[in-house]
Amino acid sequence: MKAKLPMMLDDPQTSKYAGLPDFEMFETRDEDFFLDGPVSRRVAVLDFDAATGGVLPGARFVDPGKRKFGSYDCPAEEGILGRSFQQVSAFATVLRTMYLYEEPDALGRRLTWAFGAPQLLLVPRAGEDPNAFYERESHSLQLFYITRPDKPTVYACLSRDIIAHETAHAILDGIAPDLYNSLTPQSLALHEAIADLTALLMSFRSGALRKAVLKETKGSIADSSAFSMVAPEFGQARDPGMRYLRSLLNQKTLNREDKTLDEHGIPNRVNRFEPHSLSEALSGALYTVMVKIHGSLATDYSASGKALFVRGERFKRMILRALDYLPPGEVSFGDYGRAILAADQAAHPKDGQERQWICEEFVRRALVENEAALAVETNVRYKPLAKVDLQTLADSDWAAYQFADKHREFLNIPAGVPFRVRPRLDTTKLYYRTRGAKPEPIRELIFKVSWDQEEPNGTGTPFAGKRQITIGTTLAIDWETRLVRARLTSQWQGEQQSDRDEMLKKLAGPLGDGRSGLHVEESNGLMRVRSTARMLHVAGGSSGPKQAQASTRPIPPPGVDAGAFYDLCEHRRRSS
Ligand SMILES: [Zn+2]
Repeated sequence: MKAKLPMMLDDPQTSKYAGLPDFEMFETRDEDFFLDGPVSRRVAVLDFDAATGGVLPGARFVDPGKRKFGSYDCPAEEGILGRSFQQVSAFATVLRTMYLYEEPDALGRRLTWAFGAPQLLLVPRAGEDPNAFYERESHSLQLFYITRPDKPTVYACLSRDIIAHETAHAILDGIAPDLYNSLTPQSLALHEAIADLTALLMSFRSGALRKAVLKETKGSIADSSAFSMVAPEFGQARDPGMRYLRSLLNQKTLNREDKTLDEHGIPNRVNRFEPHSLSEALSGALYTVMVKIHGSLATDYSASGKALFVRGERFKRMILRALDYLPPGEVSFGDYGRAILAADQAAHPKDGQERQWICEEFVRRALVENEAALAVETNVRYKPLAKVDLQTLADSDWAAYQFADKHREFLNIPAGVPFRVRPRLDTTKLYYRTRGAKPEPIRELIFKVSWDQEEPNGTGTPFAGKRQITIGTTLAIDWETRLVRARLTSQWQGEQQSDRDEMLKKLAGPLGDGRSGLHVEESNGLMRVRSTARMLHVAGGSSGPKQAQASTRPIPPPGVDAGAFYDLCEHRRRSS
C-alpha cells in the first residue's frame, strides 16, 4: 500500500525567507500497511500530550480504496501547527530518509534497526527542551520544542534537517552498532557527521528547494547557506547569537597549529574530544568535496538544479556505501576515509578526481596524518576465495567462523585471540562504472569479524587498570569475480588511543565520579564503557527535558509494538 504525505520542505523560517511553500507532497513506496498515527510496520508515531502525559489520537488514515495512494486527514485550517500535520510530516520525513539509504545505488538493501525489533517509535512532541535524540534502548526518536516569550514555539518536528539527522542516527546504529558503545571520540563524531550529511542529502532531494537556492546563488553551492546550514530555525531559537545549529560550510580542522577563527569568532581548530565539535571537521571536509564535485560542471547546466541532483547522487553513493565497509568496533576518521576510497575505487577505478579531493581535504584538515594513511587496496585476488562457497559463508555461522579461523592472518586477527563473526551481508548495489552507461548490479558478500583489545587507561583517567575496546576487519568480496573489493581493519592505536584517555576523563565528569551518565562495566580490573552515543543529542549540553507524565497507565495505539511502547513510557518517566 502506498500513501501520499505532506512533508516539510525545510523549516518554517527558511521556507518563509525563500518564498517557498512550507511543505511538499511525498509518495511512499509500497509499505505493508498504514494505520492511524501514522503507524506502519517500520515506523510508529506516538504523540504524547504535554498536559496529561497520555497518548493523543494520531492522524486518521484515509484508505485509498480504488485510488493509488492513501492519505492522512490533516485539517487544512490547522496548518503546520496542527498536531495531525506534525505527526504525518515527521513520519514522512523518517520514511523518506530511510528510502534514501535503501536506494539501489546506496546500500541497496532493506534497513534493520539495532534494537532488533521492526518498529522505530517517533515522538514528535516529546516535551520542552532545545533538543532531539535517538535512543536505542527505547527504540525511539524523540523531538522536542522550544517555547519563547512573545514568540512562536519552535518545533524540532517541523525541521526536516533535525528529523533526517536523528533518523540517520537510528539507521547508522543498525549498520554499525558498535559505534553506540564506542569510546573513541572520532567514532561518536562519525555518527554526528553522517547525521548532518544525511540532512544535506535530503535537502538535495527537494526540487523546489534546489531551484530556489540555485536561482539565488546563480548556480553555486559554495556559499549557499540553504544547503550548508543545519537546522537554522532551531539553532537560532536555542541561541539567538547563532545562525544555525552547525554549518557544513566550514574550515574546521584538527590541526593543532591552526589559529584562525570562524564567522562567530570561534576557533576553527575543533575540540578533539567533543563529538559535535569534532564532527564539523569531517562533515566540513566532505561538504568541500561536494562543492568541488558540483563546481566541476558548467554553471548554465547547474542552475537548473539537475546537475546538483546528479552530482549529489555521486556524493551520496560515496558517503553511504562506505558505511557497509566500515570495520566493526571503534573507528577513526581515517577508517571511514579508507572505506569511502575503497567503495569508490571499486566502483569507478578510472575516475579518480573525487578520491583525490577526499585525500586532500582529509590531510588539509589533519583528519589523517598524511595521504599514505588513506592507502587502500581494492580488487585484490586472494587465492583461497576461489574455492570457497560464498553462499555457505553467508548462511552458516559455523562455516564463517571456520573460514575466519583459517585465514586469521589475512583478516588481521591476532593469534590466539577469540573473535566473533558478524552476520554476513549479501548486498547488491547498482554501480555506474562508466559515464553515460547503464548502471550494473554488483553483488557483494560483506564479511565482518571483531575481537576485543585491551589497552591501559592512560595516566590521569579516574579509572584504574585496563579497558577493553572492540576492533575488527571488514572484507568485501565480489560475488562474481571473487575479487576482494576491500579489506579494512580498524586503526585503533596512536592518537586514537590517547583520545580515548581524554574522552574517559571527560566522561567521568568534573568530580571524576562518573555522574555524567557514563555506563561502565567492570570485571577483574578490566573495564568497558556502554551506550556512550546516548550523549549524542542534536546539540551538546542540555538541562534535561520537561515532559508531562501520565497519571494513568497509557495504552498503546493499534499497530504499535506494546512491549516497546511500555519501555518508552518507562524511559520517559525516568528521564524527567
Ligand atoms: Zn546527532
